[in-house]
Amino acid sequence: MIKRLMIANRGEIAVRIIRTCRELGIETVAVYSTADADALHVRLADIAVCIGPAKAAQSYLSVPALITTAVRTGCEAVHPGVGFLSENSNFAREVIKAGLLWIGPDPDVIDLLGDKVTARETALKYGLPVTPGSDGPISTKEEAIVVAKKCGYPVIIKAASGGGGKGMRIVMKDEELEENLKIASREAEANFSDGTVYIEKYLQNPRHVELQIIADGKGRVAILGERDCSVQRNHQKLIEESPSPGVTPEMREAMSKGARNLFSSLKYRGAGTIEFLVVADQFFFMEVNARIQVEHPVSEFVTGTDLIREQILVCCGECMTIDPDAVTLSGWSIEARINALSPGKVKHLEVPGGPGVRFDSFLYAGATVSPHYDSMVGKLIVHDTSRQRALNRLIRALDELKIDGVQVNIATQRKILSNAIFRSGQFGTGLYAQLEATL
Ligand code: ADP
Repeated sequence: MIKRLMIANRGEIAVRIIRTCRELGIETVAVYSTADADALHVRLADIAVCIGPAKAAQSYLSVPALITTAVRTGCEAVHPGVGFLSENSNFAREVIKAGLLWIGPDPDVIDLLGDKVTARETALKYGLPVTPGSDGPISTKEEAIVVAKKCGYPVIIKAASGGGGKGMRIVMKDEELEENLKIASREAEANFSDGTVYIEKYLQNPRHVELQIIADGKGRVAILGERDCSVQRNHQKLIEESPSPGVTPEMREAMSKGARNLFSSLKYRGAGTIEFLVVADQFFFMEVNARIQVEHPVSEFVTGTDLIREQILVCCGECMTIDPDAVTLSGWSIEARINALSPGKVKHLEVPGGPGVRFDSFLYAGATVSPHYDSMVGKLIVHDTSRQRALNRLIRALDELKIDGVQVNIATQRKILSNAIFRSGQFGTGLYAQLEATL
């Protein structure tokens, strides 16, 4: 087993990875920007190295700084976390070239799945239904009109390299196609250095359902149930739960069959997610995230696993401790993302506790929420025997959570969790927009 690992990330995910590494007896090297000198991940790691200024492009996204740090500190592996370079095959290749283990799938597999256009083609090849749409990239108005006619309006223009809900435009009619193609492509170029876009039918109020995968790189694939991530604001997830209130055992089995086929054939290694849009009892492949995801704790709660541990073990060539044929889902787990509404310094912090409550965060009294990075400051996750009980537990825990000095979205989350439509379980990705006026 490896002895030292570098985490090419910050915030709560870096803290999360350090915790598992400590339990595995692996020393951790944290990297940080000058804005994060007092950050929790810096305090918790065995070694911490400043890699640059606050701007992410010069620190957390600087491949040379990261590789040099990993080599100089004697690391044997690099964990990319989420966001930043976590799905960057170039970074993965540099890590491997430096003689280090990459805690993720093979860079060629990242390339195949990272581009949404090639991922759609790959999914089709393995028998997964995809959202109706273009067969490849779209660059002209004429091509777009043909696809829109085939699918019917509304359609959505999406960035092939997109992520985090960026670079998407919904279009209602032919006359709007040309301008939106240009805007989406420009946005995609600015955010992902790749202006390639394609078109899908825009489904009305679908559910966002995703399967959690752990695979050993030799064809063994464990599927750890699904997550429902339909509560989204501007296509960004706010609340996630497992299981999904809209997935039947038959649908879960059908999705799992296709997913197992795909991940097994690709000899996928590590943690991954396959995302679907669900309308009634139909599901459509959307994309694969070739990394661990923010919302992984709800799957950990219902399956009783440590996904970061499994991810590290399989990527270091060890056996996974999950038996793919014996995964059972127990109870219900829900996560509420805690987002800062403004930067600032935490003056006072009270963290909820009790049975089935987990708070993954980088906050402490005195911690700084920097304007330079993602606004998510933590995740409150609960587990109980039923959805109803888990909801009550999450509201109780939210009421105990006190963060003074930085404004956060606790009140909004509480309102969504108390809402009758949300509590009924009968909702889709349009829920937030539906409720917005009351939040
Ligand atoms: P990203 O990689 O930016 O997160 P995704 O492809 O995962 O983008 O889509 C994010 C969200 O955007 C989905 O969960 C869904 O709410 C919405 N979305 C994407 N494609 C469609 C579609 N074809 N129809 C309806 N909603 C969609």
